[in-house]
This record gives sequence, C-alpha cells and structure tokens, in this order.
Amino acid sequence: MINITFGKYEKKSSVKNSPIHNIKQALLEEQNISLDILREDLNHPIIQGNKLRKLQYNLLNAKKNGNKTLLTFGGAFSNHIAAVATAGKEFGFKTIGMIRGEETLPLNPTLEQCKKDGMELHYVDRTSYRIKHTQDFKDYLRNKFGVFYLIPEGGTNYYAINGCMEIIKDYSAYDYICCPVGTGGTVAGITIANNGRSKIIGFSALKGGEFLTKEIFNHIQTVTNDEELTEELMNSFELNTEFHLGGYAKITEELLNFVRNFYSQHQIKWDTIYNGKMAFGVFELIKANYFPKNSSILLVHTGGMQGIKGIEQRNKIKLYED
Ligand SMILES: *Cc1c(COP(=O)(O)O)cnc(C)c1O
Repeated sequence: MINITFGKYEKKSSVKNSPIHNIKQALLEEQNISLDILREDLNHPIIQGNKLRKLQYNLLNAKKNGNKTLLTFGGAFSNHIAAVATAGKEFGFKTIGMIRGEETLPLNPTLEQCKKDGMELHYVDRTSYRIKHTQDFKDYLRNKFGVFYLIPEGGTNYYAINGCMEIIKDYSAYDYICCPVGTGGTVAGITIANNGRSKIIGFSALKGGEFLTKEIFNHIQTVTNDEELTEELMNSFELNTEFHLGGYAKITEELLNFVRNFYSQHQIKWDTIYNGKMAFGVFELIKANYFPKNSSILLVHTGGMQGIKGIEQRNKIKLYED
C-alpha cells in the first residue's frame, strides 16, 4: 500500500456520501458478477455529481482568497457551466460564463438556467477559445472583467481533483471501479483515493481519447507531486477508448435502447454524453467475458442530469418518457 500525504491542503468536506444501488440482472447472475452503482447523480439537482465534488474546494479557496467573481469556460450545454452558475447563486459569487461559439437564441435549457441563476454570458469564437490558456487571453480577460477566480473548462484543477478523491474514499475495495472520462480529473481523483486497491477503468467520452492517459497522469501528479508514486497509481488505471460511439455527445440507436431499457428495469437514468456510454461499455465488456467470474464492479454515476433536456432538444428526441 502506498502512503499518501496531501500536506499543504486541509480538507473540510461538506458533501455527504452518496448511496449505492445494487443491480440485479440475469446476465450478471450468470457470470456471478456483482454490480453496484454509486449514485453521485443524487447529490444536488444542478451542482451535481462530479461537478459538485470539483467545485467544493474551489469555492472554499475562492472565498478564502476574498474572490467575489468566478469566471469559467464551457460549451453551450456544459454541466460544468450550469454547476458554476447555480453554485454562484447559492454561495454568493458573481459568475461569468465564457461560452464556446456563437450565441444562439432562444437560449438552450442549460444557458437559460445559467441566466436565471445570474450568470453573465459571453461568447468566444472557436479560434479564440483554443487560445484561452495563453497569457495574452488571460490579460484580455483581466482587462475586461477585473479580478476573478478562474476555474478551467470542465472544472479540473488541483482543488477539483482533491474533491473527486472523496467520491470513493469511504468505500472498500471493488475489483473494478468504472467511471466516464472527459478531462480525466474525476478519474484521477478516484485513482488516487483508491490507492491501488481496485482496477480503475475510465471510459473516454471523446473520440481519439488516447491522449487522456497522459493527461490523467499529469492530473494525478498535480496532487501527489511525485512521479514514482504517480506511476505506481497509474498501474491500477486503464483507459478504455472503445465506447465513444461516434464521438463526444453523439448518440446511436443502440445507446438509446440501452439507456431506456436500463431505466425501465432499474429506474436509474443515464445521460448519453458520459454515463450512458460508460454503462453501455461495461455491459458490452461483461457480455464479452472481459471481467472474470465472481468480480465485483462499481460504476460511478457522475450525474449530468441537467443536460438531458439539451440532449433531447438537439437530437429532437424524448430520451425518457417521464
Ligand atoms: C464533466 C463530466 C464528466 C467528465 O469528468 P472529467 O473529470 O472531466 O473527466 C463525466 N460525467 C459527467 C456527468 C460530467 O458532467
């Protein structure tokens, strides 16, 4: 076992542990696989799932530093943007959302919610969006908006990863822990907190997500500050890039059938951008006998329910009947 100390950063979590639901299915019984779902989707209606975990220590840090304004980036349907807007309203920050692309009216359900929560929305053309990490762009933002606490796109930074460690810190080992991956901040936190006990599988929501392994390495190292320890932790991590189903936010009939059937059988909804693809992938792997008999598997449901209305609108479908 690796001994991890986090030194400089004292944690005071106020997020309760989420409930676990055990899933019964003939396929699982045949292989004697036990499958649990960690319901992070139940922790808040909007500041939900991993986004709450990512924000909590950023908000404490911003408060401690006397920041009154949060500024962040995201796509027009982003769960992160929605979470920041609602967190600003609940915890007393002004919020500025830098949205990728052109303004589209009427606002989609995510941005409508953001506006209602008081977020100031600004649109950034795609070329500028790509250079948002450069000093020039940061200077431009400082000139335009004054002092603010910057939260990166997707919310992943040092404080966010520390928050994500708490997702599984109180759960004993499973053989496998599965989690969807966007920036990889969430799965990095889980891999650190798990400390080599379970095999962690991250499912890329992006096409061409192979680069994420290196990103996740870097995220872990941000916290451990130790290359050797990071390598050791990475031995328990595996990235699966086979279930993006055509790319980020793309949907297929198979995926729709899967999430709808799952909901009618288990009354648990998956979003189709992250969790639906992860869960679909896990069941495909089970069918292909990827997991040894008698395995225990935990799926981390990272939330994303606010995005469902937007998914329905863009694809002109109804995802769930209620
Ligand atoms: C943002 C998000 C993710 C991706 O998390 P990362 O830490 O960026 O990998 C996964 N699931 C949901 C529901 C999200 O909103």
